[in-house]
Amino acid sequence: MSEESTAVTHPFLDLPPLSAARFASIEDRVARLLDTRQDVVIMQGEALLPLEGAIRGTAGPGTTALNVITGPYGQTFGDWLRDCGATVIDLAVPFHTAVRAEQIREAFAEHPGIDFVSLVHAEAATGNTNPVAEIGEVVREHGALFYLDAVASVGAEPVLPDAWGVDLCVIGAQKAMGGPAGVSAVSVSERAWARMAANPKAPRRSYLSLLDWKERWIDGGRAALLHAPAQLEMLALQACVERIETAGLDAVMARHARAAAATRAGAVALGGLEPYVHEAQDAAPVATTLRTPPGVVAADLVSRSLEADPALPLAAGGGALAQEMIRVNHYGADATPGAVRSCLAALGGALAGKGLVVDLGAALGAVEDAWR
Ligand SMILES: *Cc1c(COP(=O)(O)O)cnc(C)c1O
Repeated sequence: MSEESTAVTHPFLDLPPLSAARFASIEDRVARLLDTRQDVVIMQGEALLPLEGAIRGTAGPGTTALNVITGPYGQTFGDWLRDCGATVIDLAVPFHTAVRAEQIREAFAEHPGIDFVSLVHAEAATGNTNPVAEIGEVVREHGALFYLDAVASVGAEPVLPDAWGVDLCVIGAQKAMGGPAGVSAVSVSERAWARMAANPKAPRRSYLSLLDWKERWIDGGRAALLHAPAQLEMLALQACVERIETAGLDAVMARHARAAAATRAGAVALGGLEPYVHEAQDAAPVATTLRTPPGVVAADLVSRSLEADPALPLAAGGGALAQEMIRVNHYGADATPGAVRSCLAALGGALAGKGLVVDLGAALGAVEDAWR
């Protein structure tokens, strides 16, 4: 065989290197998506990388952090903050609701030393969403640094770091953006950069370091990358942002809002299941959580539903929530009436198999009405 005939090209392989200019242009497009003038750094790992890097960069023994817990991620952030030596005030709210700006105001009144606030915008794991705009006003009044996990909200509802005064806004593409999971991004305000520069414990020469990207990438005019980028994931991120731009971000968000409303209405009409998040305004557009009836184990109901169709975007809650919580992950390509109908049909079948009375016709009618 000649050498030519063995050199088979492959769409994922043998690509030209991803240039610094291309990398910077993808960062700029992500910045436009967030309507931000802050620096946007694309991190070469899943969103936990910038989530942890931003906390370790800005928090230290002198930090007093208000850590809002509305789901499992808030718990993790509190652990990182404590590990950094910060004094942490946990504000936990039940997973069936959202935190109110008034609760943040009360926390500042009680602990005037708070200079850092960590918040998860929407929690795919619990299905709630928090009023970031109102909370941002309170945080700004007190001059604290505002850290936001917007991984599960971006693409499903507005995420506006500049308008809301968010200093560190972390996103990932794998949920409502319908993109890759292996790269992520964080927007960083001038204040946040200053906090990191003054923090002797901020990671440097480390994969977790945001300061490395500031000093060696941004301050160098984004001319040379720190290391070989995750090329395929970067191309996928670019394609995903392009697809959102083509459809229109508003249209993508509207699709998620409809999917959430339709799932909620459909589940109520089906019978047996209840929306886990009590008030519709506290329910996240990215994913809908449902509570199983007494005596029905959610993980069991989900595995029966997946027997019918393993591709359905259904999951049981994590940990202890696997007893009572079902997650309908109607995001990205699954933010469609078809996916919502299929999930409800499968859950209805599984409930009927347990001897419960369900009305699938009513559920599908409610989905149709809510989708309009
Ligand atoms: C999904 C999600 C992440 C990223 O976690 P993965 O489980 O790796 O997808 C981070 N924060 C929140 C709030 C999320 O919902």
